[in-house]
Amino acid sequence: MFKRSFLTLALAATLSTAAFAGAPQQKTSAPGYYRMMLGDIEVTALSDGTTQLPVHQLLQMDADKVRDKLAEFYRQSPLETSVNAYLVNDGESLVLIDTGAGTLFGASLGNLIKNIQAAGYSADDIDEIYITHMHSDHIGGLIAGGERVFTNATVRADKHDADYWLSQQQMEQVPEDKRGGFKGAMAALNPYVEAGQFKTFVAGETLAAQITSVEAYGHTPGHTMYRLDAGDQSLVFWGDLMHVAEVQFDQPSVTIAFDSDQDEARKQRVDAYADAAENGYYVAGAHLPFPGIGQLKSDDDAYDWVPVNYSPMW
Ligand SMILES: [Zn+2]
Repeated sequence: MFKRSFLTLALAATLSTAAFAGAPQQKTSAPGYYRMMLGDIEVTALSDGTTQLPVHQLLQMDADKVRDKLAEFYRQSPLETSVNAYLVNDGESLVLIDTGAGTLFGASLGNLIKNIQAAGYSADDIDEIYITHMHSDHIGGLIAGGERVFTNATVRADKHDADYWLSQQQMEQVPEDKRGGFKGAMAALNPYVEAGQFKTFVAGETLAAQITSVEAYGHTPGHTMYRLDAGDQSLVFWGDLMHVAEVQFDQPSVTIAFDSDQDEARKQRVDAYADAAENGYYVAGAHLPFPGIGQLKSDDDAYDWVPVNYSPMW
């Protein structure tokens, strides 16, 4: 009897030691891409990473109100914010929409190429790159060490953004300490300009892969959305139409410090939300939680965000 109990105890001790020596935590996530089909067109969301944004200081509303609103969603400021880009493959052209931050925005971003590769493509496969606007977190990925990353691609952007951000004259009109945005844009785009791989467009122009540019000037002088049509389905890539889901879906009129024309940025957002909710198409936001694709439902003067449903096979 004594022996048996001793054995049982010894066994229990061994088992509990084994349980305490568990497998080490891996602390990595799945590769940062998400795939869906829109009709017969393949869409791949790509994560460039996340960055901590002090949104209580950036959103143009009382800081305490921002904190209260975030708390309703179990969030706080600084808010971990996604930076997303998108690949569209219609079987004829491979189009990249925005390029992430590259090295221009800190170490938590700049994962675009890694995730393009994880998604089964390489930088050399990309035929066209459509830029929503020339802020560093959308164009930084165009270059590495001053060289073009996408050697076979033509980069396209709205003429208004190019005329502003790539102009020495415009840059010289702002104080020295506010020229970083211009310098970043020139550093990222000029290698493509010099190689004859940069072309502007005027708003409304139909581009490759059944993508149409849609003007949404306000966040920057040439901020552009891109509409992808596939049969009776559509997906509108919003760029930086909005930044903070927890605040700006409930209160579409709230702007952010990055908006160069606050009134226009507000108007564009209000109109785009209403159109998306009325028509039910998919939208994709560069700073919505990855993959940033979903639909909008109107709820009085506010909107509910319906993230895309997960499917492992499309
Ligand atoms: Zn942005």
